[in-house]
Amino acid sequence: MKRILLLKPPSPTLVNGKISKLPLELMSLASALSSKPFYNLLVEKYGSIDKKASEYQIVIEDLSSLKSLSQKNISSLECFDLVGITSTTSQINQAVNICSILKEKNPNAKFVIGGPHASLAKEQLLVYNLFDVINVGEGIESFPLIASDILNDAPFYRAENIIYDGHRNYKDTSKSLVSINNYPLSSNSITLLDLSLYDTSGFIAHDGIIKTPIALIQTSIGCNHNCSFCSIPQIYNYRKFVCLERICEEFIQYFKNGIRLFHIVDDTFSDPFGRPLELSTLLNNTFRQGMIEWVFNIRADDLVNRYLDNLSGNNFKNLVWYFNQLSKSGCRGISIGVETGDSSLLKRINKRTSLSCVSLLTDAAKEAGLGVKWYLMVGLPGQNWNSIFKTADFITKNVPTGMAVSFFIPHIGTEFFSDKRIKFESNNFNDFLSCPEPKDRYQKTLKSIISTDVMNNEEITKARNFLIDTFLENKGKKQGVEKCGL
Ligand code: SF4
Repeated sequence: MKRILLLKPPSPTLVNGKISKLPLELMSLASALSSKPFYNLLVEKYGSIDKKASEYQIVIEDLSSLKSLSQKNISSLECFDLVGITSTTSQINQAVNICSILKEKNPNAKFVIGGPHASLAKEQLLVYNLFDVINVGEGIESFPLIASDILNDAPFYRAENIIYDGHRNYKDTSKSLVSINNYPLSSNSITLLDLSLYDTSGFIAHDGIIKTPIALIQTSIGCNHNCSFCSIPQIYNYRKFVCLERICEEFIQYFKNGIRLFHIVDDTFSDPFGRPLELSTLLNNTFRQGMIEWVFNIRADDLVNRYLDNLSGNNFKNLVWYFNQLSKSGCRGISIGVETGDSSLLKRINKRTSLSCVSLLTDAAKEAGLGVKWYLMVGLPGQNWNSIFKTADFITKNVPTGMAVSFFIPHIGTEFFSDKRIKFESNNFNDFLSCPEPKDRYQKTLKSIISTDVMNNEEITKARNFLIDTFLENKGKKQGVEKCGL
């Protein structure tokens, strides 16, 4: 039986400790590779030479709780027929390093790279001359076909969203032909993980009680917004939703395997705004109170106003009721992509977030006993000290329960990547770090790798530290206190 290794490189954003999040990308791929009905569906949609699904021995190696590869004895990774690596931009040097080491040890193995960096910087990856396939777009639909092609020595023709290094040509259609509700559950692959390798601090920023690793739940693919700084619209030119019953099924299967904490990762789960409420009803009917905790990202925009416009009575009270309902099903908190407390800057980055809506959601969720985490960014073009002070003022007035302040890093393919107002101070992808991992969110060791028209990189670094201090002071805590940001 052919052996496939699915690998995630170390996390340079790790400061201390371990990662709490299970590797959703690798688990989804492993589940897709293991499902014969899903393979048959792919063959039906994309055409085939090999109509029969193969059986593989699949191993997941999640190195994300390591800071660098030197901490790992990789001799156990040398005897695979195919290695699939997923990588972000800041992990790409590690991915290249692992690939070249394993290739030297096992020249017959084939290597496929995927993940956000491969989708955004495909041409750059060709330069390394290392990877047999650079898989762009949604890997769940293409990787099982690529694996079958490679391991059966078939020509690369089926999945059209690949770069095939051998011919140096590609079709970048990034299309998706299969319903997302037919994707195998990521939780099918949980038995491939060693759960003792994951952090169990839980949702500390939301004062969570349950302590297990955290399962990431994907409820959609793609996004119908177009924020100037975001690469998601460049990667997916479609949007698909998972139905609520399927999401609930995923919760149940993780639960059966000992996982009690769930983080819904999509930015747009609250579109439409009643969707979280509908999920909470299903979860309430499925789990006894106190058995699970879950958190999700909520958009603070017109969706909220449209929802409230259909209700009679007081907006604040209606939202408190909404969050109370969620809380009964185990919801511990919400995260809001605020980005900045400067409304004119929000418009310039096309974020479509309303600050009054952020305040309303934050107050109502806190009133219902939920945690509220804000995501903020520093280093945007045009974001000067005046703008940073507006954000500090907004934090002081609203005080969320948790915060993640990230350095802005322009992604390839976004309008900011070639913006003349931005100067990269480093070309080393190892330095492309936006924010420490959750347990060390408020550490100030990271430095900005860009300067802008209005702030140099040192000022941007100071601005991040200033916002963290503002938050911690307002939380009545000492500077530098460690508190989880998830
Ligand atoms: S930041 Fe969020 S809402 Fe904006 S385009 Fe990206 S995924 Fe969509």
